[in-house]
Amino acid sequence: MQAVTVERDSTKVARRELIKAVAVIPGKPNTIHLREVPKPAVSDVPNGRGVLVKILRVGVDGTDKEINAAEYGASPAGDDFLIVGHESFGIVEEVGTKVTEFKPGDYVSLTVRRPGSSLYDVIDTYDMTTDDTYFERGINLRHGFLTEYVVDQPEYIIRVPENMKEVGVLMEPMSVAQKAIEQAYRIQQRLRVWRPKRAAVMGSGTLGLLATLVLRLRGLDVTTFGNTMPPTLNSSLIEELGARYISTKQMSLTEASAKHGPFDLILEGTGYSPLVFEAMNVLAKNGALAMVSVTGGSRQVEVPADKINLGFVLGNKVAFGSVNANREYFETGVKDLSTAELQYPGWLKRLLTHRVSGLENYGEMMRLLTEAKGSIKVYCEIAAIESRQTSAATI
Ligand code: BGC
Ligand code: ZN
Repeated sequence: MQAVTVERDSTKVARRELIKAVAVIPGKPNTIHLREVPKPAVSDVPNGRGVLVKILRVGVDGTDKEINAAEYGASPAGDDFLIVGHESFGIVEEVGTKVTEFKPGDYVSLTVRRPGSSLYDVIDTYDMTTDDTYFERGINLRHGFLTEYVVDQPEYIIRVPENMKEVGVLMEPMSVAQKAIEQAYRIQQRLRVWRPKRAAVMGSGTLGLLATLVLRLRGLDVTTFGNTMPPTLNSSLIEELGARYISTKQMSLTEASAKHGPFDLILEGTGYSPLVFEAMNVLAKNGALAMVSVTGGSRQVEVPADKINLGFVLGNKVAFGSVNANREYFETGVKDLSTAELQYPGWLKRLLTHRVSGLENYGEMMRLLTEAKGSIKVYCEIAAIESRQTSAATI
């Protein structure tokens, strides 16, 4: 095995094994490539708090597309490349002497954002940072997970039950859905009593499907919008949850609201920002609109400003943005994933439509991400999920 000399400080010099990673050169379009980087070590984290995770699977999404198009993303200080991938699933391989939270063999997922310096970062709600600079693994200023091994602190690692290992790669998108929905409920505590009955989810990709699931688990009547004509895999997955699928080709949100609304909670996650204003217009009185699309463009639209404003004022409505997720939402996310597996067995696994084996097939992964028809989640299988022997089997 090849090795590289890593200078850590003037006294310590370690020989490091090289591992594979998929990276881009931020600022230059279409630079996704395979490279070799030094293998991280548990000792990279001070005070014996390092956890070495062998990465098994990493999911990709629109953010990865934007990063490869050089529309988004930045490399860590001192590097001119960024290892991509922010939807992680792996297995703990080694822990530092002061780690009590994990042991080798535990299945895990890692959070994406790392704290900056605002008050919100200090209290571990780094997803709510007010700093202008934010640090996100695989996205902004921190290397990501499309590699063989990563090291991090236990604070940013969440356990995934072994029974959920087949769908553990959905943890990060699930955390984003959890945060937006939980935030809506917390904001609505202003009402003393909020019993939302009808929800609309705009978007029927991974995030829209997981948001539909979370809202159905909370007992809401859910209408989920997509832009393809049913029947598709997405529309059947939605209907199997007891939710309603509507193609915006057949019916607009405004028309659907007259028929199936008014919607007490609307989650907009399509990436098409004009829908936000249509949603504001049809939101129920006392309703909440969650905006989760990261729209890097510069689209302009004309809106019925007086009408929207009047409706918001007279209807005491709320609209809010929601980004990222801290470990709390990964923890509630893994509970909902587990409940979903009991209530709708096999449903989650059907979201994993396209698997690419091996980091070296990053080209195929990007091709599927941009071109595959009918895809929901494209992911890279970096190492196989081995079936561990249960203690019952070894007796
Ligand atoms: C990620 C989030 C991240 C956001 C903005 C999304 O694709 O899933 O974790 O906060 O991009 O960078
Ligand atoms: Zn993402």
